[in-house]
Amino acid sequence: MIKFLDLKSQYSQIKVEVDAAIHNVIEKATFIGGEQIKQLEKDFASYQDANYCIGVANGTDALEIAIEALGLPNNSEIIVPANSFVASSEAVTRAGHKVVFCDCDPHNYTIDLKSVVSVLTKNTRAVIAVHLYGHPCDMDGLKEIADEHGLFIIEDCAQAHGAEYKGTRVGAIGTIGAFSFYPGKNLGAYGDGGAILTNSSELATKCRMIANHGRIEKYNHQFEGRNSRLDNLQAAILNVKLKYLDNWTNKRIEIADFYLSSLLGVKEISLPKREEWAKQVYHVFVIRTKLRDELANYLNEHGIQTGVHYPIALPKLEAYNYLKQDCSTYFAYNNDAELLSLPMGEHLTKEDAWQVANAIKAFFE
Ligand SMILES: *Cc1c(COP(=O)(O)O)cnc(C)c1O
Repeated sequence: MIKFLDLKSQYSQIKVEVDAAIHNVIEKATFIGGEQIKQLEKDFASYQDANYCIGVANGTDALEIAIEALGLPNNSEIIVPANSFVASSEAVTRAGHKVVFCDCDPHNYTIDLKSVVSVLTKNTRAVIAVHLYGHPCDMDGLKEIADEHGLFIIEDCAQAHGAEYKGTRVGAIGTIGAFSFYPGKNLGAYGDGGAILTNSSELATKCRMIANHGRIEKYNHQFEGRNSRLDNLQAAILNVKLKYLDNWTNKRIEIADFYLSSLLGVKEISLPKREEWAKQVYHVFVIRTKLRDELANYLNEHGIQTGVHYPIALPKLEAYNYLKQDCSTYFAYNNDAELLSLPMGEHLTKEDAWQVANAIKAFFE
């Protein structure tokens, strides 16, 4: 069986260190706040080329708090790409604003800049740059549009730990960035977790206060915030895993390069494009084919697990009927039935990748 994701095998590699880290937190009974979360915030900020990092409860909260910290007028329009996880748009609405969908690029699947321009109005205040599948968005292009129209850029980096745009890691290239440490992400906790990154000390303080009941000191609440913290047990686990992340990312890239070269000749599938300015970290490796369901079934019968990211484009979700935005001409709207994610992760061997590629070739022969 070739697994789509294998967290158990990852744990077995680092068991001794992780167990010790967990034990240490429990022994000291420092569950909320403490040494490990401080360490993680410092190390993760530096890892992602950012000045500030604030640990929060999950990636969805990270997005929502980041948007709230911008202090936009209620009901501002925020542009979100039509292919993403629902959290990217949900956070906009939850923060009191209006979702406006734009299209995705048909080759690297990140935000389509021409489409961003086409949905701008006088009420547009921000754009969510989702570094989808671990591929960075075209940040210079997006910044040009943002500067011209006075928009903030919120980077959704939930799938892009370690990804680089022109040599800089994502997260603080735009105004503010949100990360998820959901277990299945490239850097995952053993439960929920998330982080906000920014180079602005003002925004960092605002986010930290929103996530901690509007306070800096214990009972001196300056406004009503909420409780969204990354706990110390998760931080301790993440501190161990962060040391391995570069190695794991390199393995993902090796597997991706193997898929790219061995599937090159299969004309029934479209392979993902990695732009020359991108270091893509392949949270998932997504191909496109008209025979998506048939291929997925065939692979499953041959012991190969696959996934779909995402089976229903966001504008088609029942949750967005109320928007009444017609996105029927979008690439993302019309191609969700063709997307297929191949097994990806540090758990795979070259032999596994070879088997996956061979099974795909055999299916189309
Ligand atoms: C996982 C994910 C999120 C949400 O993160 P959670 O930690 O699960 O709340 C947001 N955006 C994208 C693109 C994601 O993949």
